[in-house]
Amino acid sequence: ARRWIYVPYDRLTDATGPLTEQPASQTGIVMMEALAKAHRRPYHKKKLALILASQRHFALKQARRGIKIIYEFTPGIFADGLEQATRHHRLSALTMMQPAEREMSLDVEEARVRGIPLQLVEDTTWCSTESDFDSVFAPTTKHFLMDRFYRRMRQKTGILMQPNGEPIGGKYSYDAENRRPYRGQPPVPERPRFHPDSITQEALHLVAREFPSHFGTLDGFDLPVTQAQADEAWSFALEHLLPHFGPFEDAMAHNEPDLFHSRLSALINISRLLPRRLIDDVARAAHSERIPLASAEGFIRQILGWREFMRHLHRRTDGYRQLPGQRNNSSSDDPYAGAEPSALNAHRPLPAAFWGRRSGLHCLDTVIDQVWREGWSHHITRLMVLSNLSTLLGVSPRALTDWFWIAYIDAYDWVVEPNVLGMSTFADNGLTATKPYVSGAAYIHRMSDYCGHCRYNPRKATGDASCPFTSLYWSFLDRNADNLSSNPRMSMPYVTLRKKPASELNELRKRAAQAIEELCHAQQASPQE
Ligand code: FAD
Repeated sequence: ARRWIYVPYDRLTDATGPLTEQPASQTGIVMMEALAKAHRRPYHKKKLALILASQRHFALKQARRGIKIIYEFTPGIFADGLEQATRHHRLSALTMMQPAEREMSLDVEEARVRGIPLQLVEDTTWCSTESDFDSVFAPTTKHFLMDRFYRRMRQKTGILMQPNGEPIGGKYSYDAENRRPYRGQPPVPERPRFHPDSITQEALHLVAREFPSHFGTLDGFDLPVTQAQADEAWSFALEHLLPHFGPFEDAMAHNEPDLFHSRLSALINISRLLPRRLIDDVARAAHSERIPLASAEGFIRQILGWREFMRHLHRRTDGYRQLPGQRNNSSSDDPYAGAEPSALNAHRPLPAAFWGRRSGLHCLDTVIDQVWREGWSHHITRLMVLSNLSTLLGVSPRALTDWFWIAYIDAYDWVVEPNVLGMSTFADNGLTATKPYVSGAAYIHRMSDYCGHCRYNPRKATGDASCPFTSLYWSFLDRNADNLSSNPRMSMPYVTLRKKPASELNELRKRAAQAIEELCHAQQASPQE
């Protein structure tokens, strides 16, 4: 008998899971395009095109392997498509890997309520299991430190470990060595681009037709959509980018928006590239000294550490609805509604600049332009420019999360919510981060070359020509003193703040209030006004 497997859009792999457990001739796959899901939020057009083109290529490849394919189209939700497939083809059982997304779990529940015979099996695309995380963090844990989990994963997997149980090189993390600004050397290599074939063109036309008002543009679509293309993108990253990954991990450059980042998150998150494979390849390259240890460790920590950690954190908090010691963080009965924690009481609207209105802040406008075009920007731009500014302005963490969710091609609830609500904005009151990630203009100036192109002066803190980041930083500390001044990691900036004369503090407050007014309350713009 044939075993039927439901393959959702984010599990496009035939290298692990139920698809590998029987011969192709005894395997059937159900796949689906459920338009109501894509309409739930105005997701970046390139994200939808990437998913649709990748799904279609995946289905064709599996058919060529001799697997039987049922490919459903529905204007409705997944449960509608699954109902269609199981009824029409009289399927008595359908296997599926445990969903990664909370939203997908809700969809599965809905399908089961309708009597669809879905059987969930372990999701083997992850490197860690639930018990790997839960054994490190007891149910009463109030602070989840990624480092503890990461050490455990290094020990469990033996990645970059010596036979005596010690980490190779004597330490687990090289983070402290990986903080160099980029000054043009070494040159950033040109990465491979993938011209859309006729299948991808069809997906692009569908998105253009069905989702014309969604965020972003389809112009210049060149993402890898087949397994062979994903493999090529990975080989390129391994050979040409990763050797320089570590030192410039925290840098930002006006003319080099990608630097040495792999740009593979969107492919990893739909399982085109399996995390364990990437980690093993990098560890091998480190052993044979093709990649310096600090770069290899930095990259491995992102995937074996941060990525897995975020997913478990999301599961443990039920998508930030249940934070230890807090009431339910969702104000709505709708189970799909996002959680709204805001430990710092931040409720301002997102600046119109996030929808394309020019702010005059060169760093912000440059990053937003890139996100509009590509649905991607690297980690430090997300953290130090977009999130930092939003936190300083007192923007609602939920509003910021929703924006990241629709604007980035790699965003799914399990990864975007912990990164924004936890890591970046302190909305979870320090569950994930030991302090809010905030900085004034000086740090942005040190780690980037944006300020040289900006009309604002990073060395001035007050007055019209001053960069608003600095006055916003001091007024953020001032405003949140009750919450933050007793945090040991914030003691230095609070000592400096308290030494400021009243007149200077007043000037800082005035400049910050002006920036908040201009950025958050000036009339909201339509996208790319
Ligand atoms: P690289 O710098 O090459 O890193 C390698 C890989 O490590 C990434 O591909 C990714 O799979 C993984 N990784 C690194 N950091 C993280 C992290 N913090 N959480 C999870 N995985 C990580 N990542 C997403 O995949 N989806 C998101 O929606 C997302 N939202 C974010 C929002 C904010 C505010 C911040 C600060 C970070 C967010 N990240 C998100 C994490 C990180 O910025 C991206 O994974 C990374 O920039 C993707 O680019 P890359 O593939 O070149 O990564």
